[in-house]
Amino acid sequence: MNQNTLQKVLLGLFFLACIFIGIKKIDGATLINTKTSTNNSELSVNVSSSRMTYGRFLEYLEMGWVKQVDLYDNSRNAIVQASSPELGNRPQAIRVEIPVGSSQLIQKLKEYNIDFDAHPVGQKNIFITIASNLLLPLIFIGSLIFFFQNSENFSSSSGSSPMNLGNSPARYDQSPDTGVSFKDIAGIDEAKAEFEEIVSFLKEPDKYTLVGAKIPKGVLLVGPPGTGKTLLAKAIANEANVPFYSVAGSEFVEMFIGIGAARIRDLFNKASENTPCIVFIDEIDAVGRERGAGIGGGNDEREQTLNQLLTEMDGFKENKGVIVVGATNRADILDAALLRPGRFDRQITVGLPDRLGRIGILKVHARNKPLEDDVSLVKLANRTPGFSGADLANLLNEAAILATRYKKKTISKNEVNEAADRIIGGIAGTTMEDKKNKKLIAYHEVGHAIVGSVLRNHDEVEKITLIPRGGAKGLTWFTPDEDQSLLSRSQLLARIITTLGGRVAEQVVFGDPEVTTGASNDLQQVTNIARQMVTRYGMSNIGPIALEDDNNEQTFVSIPTGTDSDYTETIADRIDNEVCKIINHCEKKATEIILDNRVVIDLIVEKLLDSETLDGDEFRELVKEYTIIPTKI
Ligand code: ADP
Ligand code: ZN
Repeated sequence: MNQNTLQKVLLGLFFLACIFIGIKKIDGATLINTKTSTNNSELSVNVSSSRMTYGRFLEYLEMGWVKQVDLYDNSRNAIVQASSPELGNRPQAIRVEIPVGSSQLIQKLKEYNIDFDAHPVGQKNIFITIASNLLLPLIFIGSLIFFFQNSENFSSSSGSSPMNLGNSPARYDQSPDTGVSFKDIAGIDEAKAEFEEIVSFLKEPDKYTLVGAKIPKGVLLVGPPGTGKTLLAKAIANEANVPFYSVAGSEFVEMFIGIGAARIRDLFNKASENTPCIVFIDEIDAVGRERGAGIGGGNDEREQTLNQLLTEMDGFKENKGVIVVGATNRADILDAALLRPGRFDRQITVGLPDRLGRIGILKVHARNKPLEDDVSLVKLANRTPGFSGADLANLLNEAAILATRYKKKTISKNEVNEAADRIIGGIAGTTMEDKKNKKLIAYHEVGHAIVGSVLRNHDEVEKITLIPRGGAKGLTWFTPDEDQSLLSRSQLLARIITTLGGRVAEQVVFGDPEVTTGASNDLQQVTNIARQMVTRYGMSNIGPIALEDDNNEQTFVSIPTGTDSDYTETIADRIDNEVCKIINHCEKKATEIILDNRVVIDLIVEKLLDSETLDGDEFRELVKEYTIIPTKI
């Protein structure tokens, strides 16, 4: 729990206590409870709920059921301890109001030989009563003043407010030993070089100032999660060996106006006393979001916080050594003012690593793991396009966990591959018992694999398996191409044909009536690709028009021709037509390939049913013995 949460909890408890005291006062039962808990430990019933009339009390007296009487308020109230058959013969404390003028009561008590005691209302009690009557309103008024002060004055109180709500929540390290150095970071060389330069700036400022260079005030790291932004910040702190403040943007976001701003001011005040130093703000988008963009016209608190950040970064005009490092995965929502030169002068994009980057990162994380010789980090990197540094670290960690589970001291290819399969495809299930369905799935998967390897523009087969994973009953993995962002028309068609290959194989081998629901996911993918080819990439007869944008929003409605709705409908029809044409064409191709290669398909299915998994090389060996007719699309 950090300091702020603690403060809030304390504040909450404080209020609860106030309310509690209030309720107890109103209930008027304070007196009774005190009595039961101090004097009579054997009482088990909540006495405040038991009352008795004076008349009944007299009856109790006569019956000899009363054990003890305590008189309060000048004998106007009494707590009677009694036990009777109607009370289940258990001693109970009962409150009795005594009418004014019942002067014989004491006489009676003596007569029946009852143990009694009178508790006078002393001087101190009056004082306490008055004080406690005043206490509640005072607490309320006090807390109202407290909150008003918070919301109005925090911006000028510089964090010296009650309970320190305006203090900076940043963690501070005088000489940080984060355990991370630049050699632990791979695959993001550009960002690393930039940071190495800043370290050298901090270590030998003269070298730079001599030629008139100014130290940058802020560096903004932008990139998807898990790409090593925090890692870079830790490394720079370690290597520069200067004080390091680290904080998450969300820690400045508070309910009360001015607190975030006060915290920013406090952070920069402290930082400027300790120059040169580094201030790392993670998730800076939490404070740096574009102003006035929130729902309902913006959020005053956040805007004040952001304004304060902007002012502070302007404040140290000649940078004396406070370097602000911000990290975000949403540079697009940051306020333009934050990105203006003079604040975050440098923006570094930390992207997903490419193949070489992935090899580098895998090497870094393999350092402390006993990998066997058969593990190829290069192959693993080939299999994992789109993986971030964190994903790769996680992959090797999973492999190590699997090795431990299998009681091994080293990690082999098997564990590494299994870990990759798990992360990409989901956790493996048990294979199907049903012979007929298993055979059908085998044909489906081999259908994908054969079609994929016949097409020149398709990725290579990595592995075929009948072990279910995630939602799929069987899987065919292809080694994905490095650059998934730039695909040609024939690559897209090859994907559609290959994806249809599974279902087509079922159709050809088992006949139309036996086709299963198993291909629904395939069909969805196929339709998606075909639709995008038509509406986004201009790869159909409709021509090079963007009919939908990235978010699948239709853009064509705004083309001003004819009446809008007529136009939209015709275009929508044409889109559907073109999508169908593409898919039909691809289905035909897939059928041709399956029919042409039926012999090898049967053979591979047999092997697959036997071993349940075939890796890419085994598959290619089998295929090599038969001529597969290569197809161009
Ligand atoms: P981000 O801050 O970008 O979300 P992190 O820096 O927190 O990501 O990365 C999480 C973990 O992933 C790191 O602790 C590290 O183990 C691993 N990692 C990420 N990127 C890299 C990289 N480029 N080189 C080595 N390890 C990395
Ligand atoms: Zn399939």
